[in-house]
Amino acid sequence: MSTLELKNVNKIYPNGFHAVHDFNLTIDKGEFIVFVGPSGCGKSTTLRMIAGLEDISSGDFTIDGKRVNELGPREREVAMVFQSYALYPNMTVFDNIAFGLTLQGVDDDVIEERVLKTAKILGLTDYLDRFPRALSGGQRQRVAIGRSIIRKVGIFLMDEPLSNLDAKQRVTMRSEIAQIHREAGATTIYVTHDQTEAMTLADRIVVMKDGYVQQIGTPKELYFDPVNVFVAGFIGEPPMNFIRAKVKGGKIALGENIVDLAPVLGDKVSAYEGKRIVFGFRPEAIELGKAEDAYQINALVELTEMLGDNTNVYVVAGEERAILKVDPHDTPEMDASITFSIPYKNVYLFDDETEMVIK
Ligand code: ATP
Repeated sequence: MSTLELKNVNKIYPNGFHAVHDFNLTIDKGEFIVFVGPSGCGKSTTLRMIAGLEDISSGDFTIDGKRVNELGPREREVAMVFQSYALYPNMTVFDNIAFGLTLQGVDDDVIEERVLKTAKILGLTDYLDRFPRALSGGQRQRVAIGRSIIRKVGIFLMDEPLSNLDAKQRVTMRSEIAQIHREAGATTIYVTHDQTEAMTLADRIVVMKDGYVQQIGTPKELYFDPVNVFVAGFIGEPPMNFIRAKVKGGKIALGENIVDLAPVLGDKVSAYEGKRIVFGFRPEAIELGKAEDAYQINALVELTEMLGDNTNVYVVAGEERAILKVDPHDTPEMDASITFSIPYKNVYLFDDETEMVIK
């Protein structure tokens, strides 16, 4: 287990593209960190700089207090699992998992003991004599993970390790990865664009966009206290509803509904007079019907999607559209006029210009 620190780390590719800007993060021993963000935001570049596969253009990277910018991947003692896990097709599962140790000249009996233990953790015991072609995608992925964890390094890096699996396998492997982390306890950095993977696996999540860190926090912090519109919209499914509107007399209009911002903004409301703000609320943070200390909104139901454990209700009020997540037993009729309440405490307000949270 190791402590990692990245200080003002930047990546400028040889073609001049600035892919990562001033990345700052301290990772505690044994922590499970997830880098998340849309395609091209710089997640893999940052991970590759940590792995030593990509030069750090400026800034410092330390492992246990020692600067390692110039060290190669092997000297950093990191293990990495990639999106595309090339297994050796002409080697059995046993030999694939053992490969790194065999190269290091580790004794055969030690190799055997470690391979059997790794295979047990990963549920591969019955497949050790098989060749990769006779395995499912999920099993191959587990062999790739086994090949990495067998090295017992302090730092474990994973770049979208589940991307080649189907939805069901991803869920199974996700819990297996969490289990492996609990057992092995290695400091882990995991890259994904899937917010569910990020939320379920991470101790802390780093949300990135366009090469910039947007927010670093626990899943709970990111969900309840997003710092800006991007993070608020990225975490949560369906995403947070946003309504952009101009403040007049301390109020905004949501179709025919007049929303008085004073209960949410208090004294700050005057500072936003005449400016545009973003009014946000999560689909699941509403109540059907009327409630105390809440905005009452009248809207029309455009569409409902019954998903089993809940129903997504698409509503429109004037020009504004929103999604509500309700108990399936309360699913309204299509085209019905409904009233729903947004408790003041569940409202997020953002500055429309800076996109930063106001409240
Ligand atoms: P994805 O989820 O699609 O893998 P990512 O967040 O991991 O995306 P990176 O692979 O880190 O993104 O790429 C970040 C940015 O850097 C992208 O705009 C990409 O086009 C650019 N980039 C990556 N490699 C190079 C390179 N060798 N030279 C120039 N630009 C690069």
